[in-house]
Order: sequence, then structure tokens, then C-alpha cells
Amino acid sequence: MKSKILIIGACGQIGSELTFKLRELYGNENVIASDISYSNLDIVNSGIFEIVDAENYVSVKVCIEKYKIDTVYLMAAILSATGEKFPKKAWDLNMESLFHILNLARANFIKKVFWPSSIAVFGPTTPKDYTPQYTVMEPTTVYGITKQVGERWCEYYFKKYGVDVRSLRYPGIISWKTLPGGGTTDYAVEIFHKALNEGAYDCFLKEDTKLPMMFMDDAIKATIDIMSAPKEAIKIRSSYNLAAISFTPKEIADSIKSQIPEFKISYTPDFRQEIANSWPSSINDSYARQDWKWKHQFNLTDITKEMLSQLNKKYNAALKKSN
Ligand code: NAD
Repeated sequence: MKSKILIIGACGQIGSELTFKLRELYGNENVIASDISYSNLDIVNSGIFEIVDAENYVSVKVCIEKYKIDTVYLMAAILSATGEKFPKKAWDLNMESLFHILNLARANFIKKVFWPSSIAVFGPTTPKDYTPQYTVMEPTTVYGITKQVGERWCEYYFKKYGVDVRSLRYPGIISWKTLPGGGTTDYAVEIFHKALNEGAYDCFLKEDTKLPMMFMDDAIKATIDIMSAPKEAIKIRSSYNLAAISFTPKEIADSIKSQIPEFKISYTPDFRQEIANSWPSSINDSYARQDWKWKHQFNLTDITKEMLSQLNKKYNAALKKSN
């Protein structure tokens, strides 16, 4: 029998691309997309879509029962930069939504859960370079605190109740289909839009702020790889370190300049600089590579080429439509 999948937060940056990929793999009728609003019409119109409030247990349970869901990807969350503006809201959504899903799995309504963590679980006292899986973790953002606590709960529910929950500590994700939703690494997406539209970008981080990053295709592959791996292969039930590449704003700007020589970059750091300063520069993800054979594909040059060419096509198509 094919898996029946529910994606919660399917209109977002990662949820939307995950929905498309899962629909391709498992068939439209087996992949139910849901979100708190109809904010992404490509998702709403491309298959079954339901309004689900991740903070509301009944709302989630009704949808799971309606479609006889066995696997949930919980992508709804408030991210790092937005979380600093609305700490209570971030705590409530990020924690409540996870508890609802873990409790539904514990009560056997669902069999398998994917819940994303983040490099935000690390803090200023964590070793910055090639950050190990097991290390000091003292996050300084409310978002990082929710992810760290969430990881503990995932492991607890696995050990205590046998809940098959799997998790990845995503780095900053770069994509062209859907805009990012309020994170500290959003600059690495905005820069491509501005390069094409205005030929210049004023970056909210300093030129030498090196952060771990990943192209969306790699993030989706990692998510599907870990969820498809045999249960015994998943040895870490808190969350796996996951890495692809690391770069600074200057390095990504140089990469864009190699394709658009007249592109100009300036730097006006804001409150997000402090968040970035507290995060690792690079990540050691050897457990993921060893346990379920994780391998990334895209380096910075590949990402720059793909982002510029896909966004160019997207903007040209929109222009044609409006004429
Ligand atoms: P996003 O902000 O783009 O999308 C989140 C989605 O959740 C939005 O569509 C929003 O409408 C929805 N949502 C908000 N409140 C909801 C509610 N009450 N009920 C249902 N849906 C609700 O986020 P994203 O970038 O796609 O991130 C997905 C997950 O990956 C999050 O857990 C995030 O912490 C994690 N993550 C993302 C990144 C990244 O760079 N994008 C990095 C590390 C971890």
C-alpha cells in the first residue's frame, strides 16, 4: 500500500518544493498539502489542499483522519529573524505543532514523522568550524531554543514510545521557486533577485560572515533520503547535522559577478548579524553520510548558475504574461 502523506506548512519555502517532489514520487492523490492560509496558489491548485492550523490539535487530527494519513512532514514554523520579533508566537507555534504530531504518532494515528531542526540549535559557545554532531549547544535565539527543545522531545518520544520521528538540522536553504520566510540566511536568496532586477544588493550581513548553506534540491533529496531509509539505519533520533557548502556574502557576490560583471554589493548589517555571529561557519555531517549515505550535489558555482537562469526564465515569463 502506498504511503498517505500530509505536509503541514506546504505553502512555505521548503514545504512547497517538498510537496511537488512527493507528488511526483507518490502520486497526487497520496500527497495532501496543507497550510494556515492559501498563500501559495501553485501549491493550492496543484493537488489536494486543506487549511490546517498546526497549533490546533483538532484541526490537525481531523485532516489526518479524513485522508487516513500515515506520514507527516511538519514544515510549519516561525523562523529565526521573525522569531526575534515575536518570541512568544514562535515558541507557541514551534512547540505546540510538534507536540500535536508526536502525540498523534504516539497514539498510532500516524506511523512516521519528519520534523526539521536547524543549525540555529548551535550558539556562540559552539565550536564554529566543522561543528560536530555532539557538542556544546547554547542557542541565543528563541527559534534556536525551540529547535533544541524540539530535538530533545523527538528523541524522548522515540526512546520512550517508539515514535518513528526523523529530523535534519538544515543549514540556510537557497531556492528560486518560493521566497524564504524570515530567516537569517534569506540574504542568499534575495541577492539573486536583486542582482537580476536592480543590478545591486545591500546585504544585511557583513561581507565575511561565513554560514553553512545548501541548494533546495539537495535539501529535498536529504529529506526524502532520510525518510526512505530503513528504520535501523536512523541511529540519531534527535536530529542529524547536514551540510553541503559554506560561503560568505562576498563569495556569493563574486560568484554572481562572474556571470553579471556589473553587479554591485554593499553591506549594512542589521539585527540579523548578531544571530549569524552565533551560528557555525561549517558543519561536520559525517553521521548522515555514514548512516544513510547522504551526499550533496550542488556547489556555489552550480547554485549561482541555476539560480540566475531559473529566475531569469521566471521573470521573463511574468513579463510576457503582463504584456
Ligand atoms: P517558511 O516560513 O517559508 O514556511 C512556513 C509555512 O508554515 C508557511 O507557509 C506558513 O504559512 C505556514 N504556517 C505558519 N503558521 C502555521 C500554522 N499555525 N499552521 C499551519 N501552517 C502554518 O519556512 P521554511 O523555510 O519552508 O521552513 C520549513 C521548516 O524548515 C521550518 O521548520 C524551519 O524552521 C526549517 N528550516 C528552514 C531553513 C531555511 O533556510 N528555509 C533552515 C533551517 C530550518
